[in-house]
Amino acid sequence: MIVVMNHGNNASSIQQVVDFVEKAGLKTQVSKGVERTVIGLIGDKTKVDRSVLESIPDVAEIIDVSKPYKRAAREMHPDDTVITLNNGLKIGGKNEPVVMAGPCTVENWEMLSEIAEAVKSAGAKVLRGGAWKPRTSPYAFQGLGEEGLKLLDKARAATGLPVVSELMDTKDIPLFLKYVDIIQIGARNMQNFSLLKELGKINKPILLKRGLSATIEEWLMSAEYILAGGNTNVLLCERGIRTMEKYTRNTLDLSAVPVIKKMSHLPIIIDPSHAVGHWDYVPAMSKAAIVAGADGLIIEVHSAPEKAACDGGQCLKPKLFSGLMQDIKALSKYR
Ligand code: PEP
Ligand code: MN
Repeated sequence: MIVVMNHGNNASSIQQVVDFVEKAGLKTQVSKGVERTVIGLIGDKTKVDRSVLESIPDVAEIIDVSKPYKRAAREMHPDDTVITLNNGLKIGGKNEPVVMAGPCTVENWEMLSEIAEAVKSAGAKVLRGGAWKPRTSPYAFQGLGEEGLKLLDKARAATGLPVVSELMDTKDIPLFLKYVDIIQIGARNMQNFSLLKELGKINKPILLKRGLSATIEEWLMSAEYILAGGNTNVLLCERGIRTMEKYTRNTLDLSAVPVIKKMSHLPIIIDPSHAVGHWDYVPAMSKAAIVAGADGLIIEVHSAPEKAACDGGQCLKPKLFSGLMQDIKALSKYR
């Protein structure tokens, strides 16, 4: 249940609603928008007398929400969430789409610094690079671990680009707090609830990827875990879902963009690289994602894809990436 207050944001009326609801044993979440304040009720609604609520001054409307996610729901938070990184970069809302780019995994300093400089000069605003890699085979390259994070930190110092990297284990949270600007939760861990609960206790922005076969509702429920813990800095990332199609690695669900925009206030980022799995399909899907209204993209780029430790076949070379960035810039006005 959501209580929508009249325009004007009258503090004493808002407090009256909160006191009444909390006295009944429920929790409240107050979201102050530019125009209106909405108060979400969390708990057993049958304990709340609706007619009393309606009689409180400035209560404009009471909406029953059947969705199982509340904090992630647009109703609860009519304004778009905008995530601000440490360097002031804003993601979401009316801000320009943000492009994150870099190798699938950090391999060594020479490679990372070369790619970081290339994506920066093409206009990327965040550097990506995995340090712990969730590989299907235990014999495949697993990432450099802490050393990889240190190299990302060095690349941030050299380029000024904030960095995003994937966390797989709660025990590494302190390292990620120290070295990265955005913590990525990969598709395979979208429903690792103990990991999500720990992420609710920190403030660092989280890029939550959609699970391999997750519905949008399941994905939003995972976001809810992080939000419910108190971390409101969640970015959603669509990276393709499993379908019967074999010509692409996954099927990019671009319809997730307008659906998420309607159902949630959280920013949505598209990962065309893991969605299609082939470099030559990446530009088309990147451009389509921007026009569909995505708040950003995360794209794999490698200066020598044929030598990449993983996902070389889906990496763009810097020159192609740079051309794509020009197209993305031109298309941003159609969002
Ligand atoms: C990645 O971005 O490096 C990655 C492994 O992606 P996903 O979790 O979407 O497969
Ligand atoms: Mn990859």
